[in-house]
Amino acid sequence: MIDSQRIAALADAPVPPQKHLIGGREQAARDAAELEVLSPRNGTLLTTVADGCAADVDDAVRAARQSFESGAWANRAPAERKKILMRIAELIDEHAYELAVLGVRDNGTEISMALKAEPGSAAATFRYYGEAVDKIGGEVAPTGPANIGLVLRQPVGVVGCIVPWNFPMMIGAWKIAPALAVGNSVVVKPSETASLSLLRLAQLALEAGLPDGVLNVVTGKGAVVGEALGLHDDVDIIAFTGSGFVGRKLLGYSAHSNLKHVYLELGGKSPNIVFADAPDMDKAASAAVNGIFRNSGQVCVAGSRLLVERSIHRDFVARVRQRTEQLRVGDPLDAATDVGAINSEEQLAKNLQFVRIASEGGAECVSGGERILQESGGYYMSPAIFDNVASDMQIAREEVFGPVLSVMPFDDEDEAIRIANATDYGLAAGVWTANLSRAHRMLQRVRSGVVHVNCYGGTDITVPLGGMKQSGNGYDKSLHALDKYTALKTGWIAL
Ligand code: NAD
Repeated sequence: MIDSQRIAALADAPVPPQKHLIGGREQAARDAAELEVLSPRNGTLLTTVADGCAADVDDAVRAARQSFESGAWANRAPAERKKILMRIAELIDEHAYELAVLGVRDNGTEISMALKAEPGSAAATFRYYGEAVDKIGGEVAPTGPANIGLVLRQPVGVVGCIVPWNFPMMIGAWKIAPALAVGNSVVVKPSETASLSLLRLAQLALEAGLPDGVLNVVTGKGAVVGEALGLHDDVDIIAFTGSGFVGRKLLGYSAHSNLKHVYLELGGKSPNIVFADAPDMDKAASAAVNGIFRNSGQVCVAGSRLLVERSIHRDFVARVRQRTEQLRVGDPLDAATDVGAINSEEQLAKNLQFVRIASEGGAECVSGGERILQESGGYYMSPAIFDNVASDMQIAREEVFGPVLSVMPFDDEDEAIRIANATDYGLAAGVWTANLSRAHRMLQRVRSGVVHVNCYGGTDITVPLGGMKQSGNGYDKSLHALDKYTALKTGWIAL
């Protein structure tokens, strides 16, 4: 049960100007520059954050390197690191409402989703990797009697994390927690339109006993702070979540600096495929609606392409449309809101441009697609459904990252696979069928990092999230994520 009184008490609390967190202390940008933070709820000035520059990134990387070399964290007994990660999780839980409301005022996600997905997931993530700390180790290779081959697993050193605005704490924690668990020091660059909750989370980590300099946060513009981090010669790896456009830049920065490893969690154009033998059409329709419209479609795994077998197409679209038109779009801090605000005016304009081009290109808009609630000063849009979208249309190919659904009918399983895979992306998919053999065939043939069967979007920290094709490389979540943050070293000992 959501506590609306607690939300109301926090909704308009003043937020002081925010600075970087470097070496355990707050630090203004070297050139004293600040960025205004506008709330997507109502377009008003929420606060300012430090508008970082390359010199600030240098300071943060130096602090991270010094803390790493000092061994204050990396050389601590795993059981002690575990205690601190578990304490961070506790503090996140204790401050869940404060963190969630601050995050929503900054990024616009509806509070019902933010409470679960942001502090809820972040705490679970710190707990999961905290519990893993003293249960993972190296190996002794089966080399024969003349030698011993040791495979040591060591922290990589300084990890740069660059995260987007849709779920800053959850995605931040997916990178920060496993990186810290194995002893690295970290520099985080949050999105310029969603920095506040991650800054607060980092302060809580200090309060939990994380040594100074082990977790640093530098705020500011991607093209300045993100670029400086990507180009820095003393950063050992970059763990990034965001667009393919920036992902490509990061690969370039690596090539032009120290060849650091770059791990990319990128976008998607995920197909949600409904066969005529789906076991429960109502459940499938509700999941299709939630799968694209929660958090205004600003979800990497959003089911933005709805593939429907032709024999049920008309009926199924009617069900989806009816549910969509019942969604309450509005103030993200209202617990009854289903769909909150678009993150920024710029993103709203981008979404509306997609809608305009689709309509002009002949796609059939059967619902929504307009700016609404403009009198609030906030950035709101009615969820849009386009029917009979052709595979070559822009809304079938490009990630909108907004509340726009493209419906595409198909005739048989082979055609469903062909349409599903006709994309540069490969992040997520859904399949609805009561036919077990077909479910397994689809699982094998759809090229994406996750395939949901008779559900859409369920997940857990225990399973990896990663993309195929241009949806990225590497994995967040699960024990597999630890591979990014550790280097294997061989010890070869002659006996
Ligand atoms: P974005 O790529 O614009 O920005 C992501 C981060 O990169 C931000 O912190 C930004 O400041 C920074 N950045 C921007 N320019 C940079 C540069 N030149 N160098 C270094 N850093 C730079 O993405 P966004 O709009 O914040 O987020 C939306 C995207 O993120 C969508 O494509 C979405 O699918 C993707 N995403 C993917 C996942 C996943 O797990 N695969 C999860 C969430 C979001």
